[in-house]
Amino acid sequence: MLYDNLGVNDQGHLTVGGLDTVALAEEFGAPLYVLDEDQVRANCRTYRQAMAEWMPGGSLPLFAGKALCFKGLYPVLEEEGMGADVVSPGEIYTALAGGFPAEKLYFHGNNKTDEDIAYALDCGVGCFIVDNHQELERLEQAAGARSHRQRVLLRVTPGIDPHTLQAINTGRIDCQFGVPIETGQAAQFVADALSRPHLQVEGFHSHIGSQIFEAAPFCDAVDILLDFAHAMRQAHGFVARTLNLGGGFGVRYRESDPTVDIPGNIRALADHLRRGCETKGYPMPRVLLEPGRSIVANAGLTLYRVGGVKTIAGYRSYVTVNGGMTDNPRYALYQAPYTVLPASRMGETRDFLCTVAGRCCESGDLIQEKVSLPQPARDDLLAVLTTGAYNFTMASNYNRLCRPALVMVRGGKARLAVRRQTFADLVACDL
Ligand SMILES: *Cc1c(COP(=O)(O)O)cnc(C)c1O
Repeated sequence: MLYDNLGVNDQGHLTVGGLDTVALAEEFGAPLYVLDEDQVRANCRTYRQAMAEWMPGGSLPLFAGKALCFKGLYPVLEEEGMGADVVSPGEIYTALAGGFPAEKLYFHGNNKTDEDIAYALDCGVGCFIVDNHQELERLEQAAGARSHRQRVLLRVTPGIDPHTLQAINTGRIDCQFGVPIETGQAAQFVADALSRPHLQVEGFHSHIGSQIFEAAPFCDAVDILLDFAHAMRQAHGFVARTLNLGGGFGVRYRESDPTVDIPGNIRALADHLRRGCETKGYPMPRVLLEPGRSIVANAGLTLYRVGGVKTIAGYRSYVTVNGGMTDNPRYALYQAPYTVLPASRMGETRDFLCTVAGRCCESGDLIQEKVSLPQPARDDLLAVLTTGAYNFTMASNYNRLCRPALVMVRGGKARLAVRRQTFADLVACDL
């Protein structure tokens, strides 16, 4: 099994967190997002404990809400001592509705509108991660109008390519996020920020990409950031108290993916940073990390009901399910790999090679190709593993399909956390 929280029971059904997936689909319907809350908590603790052990006081993991965002998740994050990243007023609203403290929110985004800025200030968001000059100027004005001094981090791009998918790669110079160090623009950005009376610059942020399996690319980023921080100290006497290194540790989508040693990587990163600071005589900053995927991906799976099987002689077989790119657009977007299991028939030989397709009117609506299943039949239950990140949050109502429910599993019990959409929901905004 890809993860320890999965198993097979006497009936040959896949279990998650000790619960029978077939029973879950019967009770809550399919398609269904299932999230193992115990696994989410364990993942939070892995980060919290390793950062507390190896990094300076005040270091903290911030959960990146773009990976998964609904009200019921935020009390869990709060109880586990996490901070949280938000990228829109909608994510801020959701976090606050879930009872999360505004003070522990970090507000991202490369185009925060004036309304977004006003909303976040009025909510008391703890820290803005400022992406560009225009935002700096508007934030200064808006904070000034409220006689408020806003804590900020400045997003810079170190120009690192961690060799991942182009679409989820943001540390390179040529991208729309942050201000590049290499061109000298980041130095001007810092000078500008330090001159603003209503902004309290705490340090720097960089995010180099996603699905990174070792510490080395983060260490490269640290080297570049420390050189930059050192230069800014010499130029302005400014000392960064906080270094936010972004998110991006990888997760296993398939058996062939490597496992990631998160505590080991955090320790290696901390050691590297400490050595770098000692060499430069720079005070060791506290560290923020922004894991999204590695907190929730392996805690989630999606259950689908099989509709039909179509074999085209000499080509391939398609198995259609009652969901698709509307609940998981990641294969359609960039051929993201997933493991698909025959949840209701785990004991049988998997000798039927097929493509699992969704139900949307779009030939690109595939969940996965080259999947091995027992010869499928209508009403079989399939499980797509590792869908806890970037599925629920990327879902749409294309073809006016209702979004699935989301069920949280904890201590062998399941509870509905997000109800399935109804047809009435679909027309709720239509006048
Ligand atoms: C996407 C993103 C994250 C989270 O990345 P994961 O790969 O999900 O850990 C964190 N910070 C920023 C700025 C991001 O863009």
